[in-house]
Amino acid sequence: MSDRINILQAAMKSVGLGGGPQSLVAGELCDGTGAEITLIDPYTEQVLARYKDADMALSQAACTAAKTAQIGWAKGISAAARGLVMQDIARAVLAHLEPLAQIESLIAGKPIRDCRVEVAKVAEMFTYYAGWADKLHGEVIPVPSGHLNYTLREPLGVVFQITPWNAPIFTGGWQIAPAIATGNGVVIKPSELTPVTTVALVKIAEEAGLPRGLVNVLCGLGPTSGQAAIEHDAVRKVVFVGSPETGRKVAISAAAALKPAVLELGGKSANIVFEDANLEHACLGAQAAIFSGAGQSCVAGSRLLVQKSIHAELIDMLSQGMANITLGDPLSEATEVGPISNAKQFSHVTGMIDQARDAGASVLSRNDRLDQGYFVPPTVLNGLSNTAKAAQDEIFGPVVTAIPFEDEAEAIALANATNFGLAGAVWTADVGRAHRMAEAVRAGTFWINSYKAIHVSSPFGGSLNSGFGRSSGTDALMEYTAAKSVWLDSAPIPRIAFGYVS
Ligand code: NAD
Repeated sequence: MSDRINILQAAMKSVGLGGGPQSLVAGELCDGTGAEITLIDPYTEQVLARYKDADMALSQAACTAAKTAQIGWAKGISAAARGLVMQDIARAVLAHLEPLAQIESLIAGKPIRDCRVEVAKVAEMFTYYAGWADKLHGEVIPVPSGHLNYTLREPLGVVFQITPWNAPIFTGGWQIAPAIATGNGVVIKPSELTPVTTVALVKIAEEAGLPRGLVNVLCGLGPTSGQAAIEHDAVRKVVFVGSPETGRKVAISAAAALKPAVLELGGKSANIVFEDANLEHACLGAQAAIFSGAGQSCVAGSRLLVQKSIHAELIDMLSQGMANITLGDPLSEATEVGPISNAKQFSHVTGMIDQARDAGASVLSRNDRLDQGYFVPPTVLNGLSNTAKAAQDEIFGPVVTAIPFEDEAEAIALANATNFGLAGAVWTADVGRAHRMAEAVRAGTFWINSYKAIHVSSPFGGSLNSGFGRSSGTDALMEYTAAKSVWLDSAPIPRIAFGYVS
């Protein structure tokens, strides 16, 4: 067995898991019965583990388990007690930070330093929503009839969550925490390529007091395990995080079963630099926006819009900055950018670079592909227009398309000329302009002289091909609850007559 497999197995053991990926259903680790799935180490290209798709029977068992456990969680204990359990979960996650980060780093190929930050953020999500558990107030509404009318915010029941491979534990915690704080049961299906940290998170949560079966994890494929859960009677809402292509399929399946969906999809975000910006800061921001996480981030600043007067200078600064980024083994403390997470994505990213070159782009890159692993060096595509494929399609790799603009009006027009609406940023010293850009650019998240700042307390989501609905903050509390309107008639003679209620 290689050293890396030894590290993986030791880390899995220390969070209570067996040797390979297994689903967690009703508190039990279970092997699937479907097609075989192979996990490849993106750094060595060697096999890390093999397991079987959970498939339909486990998927149905997971939904049933969530339905049973949800009743006790929502009605059997107080909301304050739910919050206390969630605080215990947050502490338990921090106590297992290192093995969780190691598993994520090995399987997803993410730098270990980034994984530690993401695990800590998961703990923060549980702490944040723990505080909300007993603060979900309804309203009293002064209806004209004189009835006492008030609202209750009720859990939906069981929600089904589907997550992608680029930030598995982060995305899992992001959706599980608000769902359980509001009294729901959960079935979650992480990407089949990176399922282990989600199972580990729920296992740790169960050890910390989460009722078994309240959150169930399916290790498996979308069209089988995922589809079965979407269709299951117990599931009342589908929350999907992933690509627009799959999101469309999931939304159609949910709609066919008359279930609502939240879609958190991709982006092609504009990072806009004006000539009055602090160029040093803008350059650092541009690098972080697209090269951190090897560009595998939904909010990546994948279009760099630069005012013409400083375009050449900024591209030059960016090329120099790129040369200093440390690529390497995700487990190494020094690594800033790891490999692309899987072979399919690697061929997509390299294919998009080749396509851009054929379309006339000048490709600025370090040309230092390591001799193993799915590495793509930081790359700038120059000389393309905003209508080029590389400027319109999500690449989801460390590849930025740089496009010059003349003035504010052109910057806004270019920023909005895609089918996405997830994020954006502006770099400028002009406060008025910063606010005008924040208003004019279509985005669910917009940064001024910054990039990639997000927090569980602030809403997150997109429009068009970036999806719909919101996660994080109080918006997520609304997504995971429904309002019930209660009417009490205090009149001596009940005000009921035919035709009274229209
Ligand atoms: P993907 O769409 O290929 O897969 C996402 C999930 O959907 C996986 O768990 C997969 O197994 C599942 N799936 C696939 N087919 C399915 C089906 N028919 N029914 C049900 N589930 C199915 O996405 P990916 O390649 O894993 O992730 C990358 C994408 O995710 C990018 O587009 C990125 O922008 C997006 N993303 C968005 C956000 C956000 O918050 N907006 C965050 C992270 C990633």
